[in-house]
Amino acid sequence: MSQVRVRFAPSPTGYLHVGNARTAVLNWLFARHTHGKFVLRIEDTDLERSTEEFHLELLEDLDWLGLDWDEGPDKGGEFGPYRQSERLQVYREHAQRLMDEGHAFRCYCSAEEIKTKSDEAIRLGKSTNYDGTCYDLTTDRIQKFENEGRKQAIRFRVPEGVISFRDVVHDEVAFDSESISDFVILRADGIATYNFAAAIDDSLMKISHVVRGEDHLSNTPKQMLIYNALGLPLPAFVHIPMILGKDRSKLSKRHGDNQVRQYREKGYLPEAMINFLSLLSWSSPTGDELLSVDRLIGEFDLERLSKAAAIFDTEKFNWMNGWYLRNAEFDRMVNLSVPILKNAGLDVSDRRFVEKCLEAVISRVDYLQQLPEQCAIFFSQEVKYENESAIKSQSSKKIFKQFLCETNNLSGWNAEVFRDTMK
Ligand code: GLU
Repeated sequence: MSQVRVRFAPSPTGYLHVGNARTAVLNWLFARHTHGKFVLRIEDTDLERSTEEFHLELLEDLDWLGLDWDEGPDKGGEFGPYRQSERLQVYREHAQRLMDEGHAFRCYCSAEEIKTKSDEAIRLGKSTNYDGTCYDLTTDRIQKFENEGRKQAIRFRVPEGVISFRDVVHDEVAFDSESISDFVILRADGIATYNFAAAIDDSLMKISHVVRGEDHLSNTPKQMLIYNALGLPLPAFVHIPMILGKDRSKLSKRHGDNQVRQYREKGYLPEAMINFLSLLSWSSPTGDELLSVDRLIGEFDLERLSKAAAIFDTEKFNWMNGWYLRNAEFDRMVNLSVPILKNAGLDVSDRRFVEKCLEAVISRVDYLQQLPEQCAIFFSQEVKYENESAIKSQSSKKIFKQFLCETNNLSGWNAEVFRDTMK
């Protein structure tokens, strides 16, 4: 196999979603496993929804996860620029070539006209595909449209036939071209659409494997049509299953946090997140679940990707993160905890004291933002009881007496002995 080149191609229209992060993780693991290249491409052709803030946040989240890229907007590389908004000329040239060779055509139909025709087709139970109005425009017609001030988009002319390909996860996939309308590749404002830009870039950036979410499976035949029309070699396609919530519905806000930064801010560890995300539709041949990044890189293999939808199980993630917290280098945990405790208004000036607090409670937290609550008792002068009357009752007094007796007889004190005695 020639060098593996994979890409992560997010649109900076929001914060990094865990589903996209999983796509990034799998691409990155594959690149590192094969000593290939991991390319970051920013798909910001949706000028209204893409923002610089989201772009920077994306880079920050990827950086926090430790997913370093070999080529990208800030790094450069042989096949740049890596921001689609800087590649418009490349798309226009390819669109022109498609027109020159009869694979694409100018279309002057307005959005309203298209919608009216499509509504009518639905009413009559007919296909809503583009009806070919602008297929063979005469110069006069074009002139007329131009005089009317109409704007031209460029559409791809979908040929008849079946478009099939082999997907690494889904095996043989076929689409009848009847289900694909002549689609716009350059909008009237001159901006390339996703399918066109993605196909051109994947090809020009020499991407060997397109690894992305299954929601893009139905885009693949359109992209293949572009490859074929331009005579470009095809990459391998790898469509990974969707991530569902525990109730098996599409992961959404309803299921809780779904952005990487939310987990970052709550005090999850990046290595725990990489481990957890990598196991959404992939598994180690050993069956082990706690896998360091090095082990993941060593073991990752496309063949072990599953076809079944992956379940985002927050409890499992919490369990895993708890394990990483307890097993991480203690000094690092203290450094991460100090600002969290400080933000919660606790006095962290005595580092030794913070260390002792952390030692006492680290095994009880799933993520670091739970620390202030767990540690509060060590920082307050006054103890507040949840149920004061029960604590002060006669039977409680007996228990406390017994407890004191037991502790007097102890030879050594540590967290474990204390816990057992308490029990
Ligand atoms: N920008 C697209 C997305 O974020 C990329 C899809 C692809 O990987 O081709 O969904």
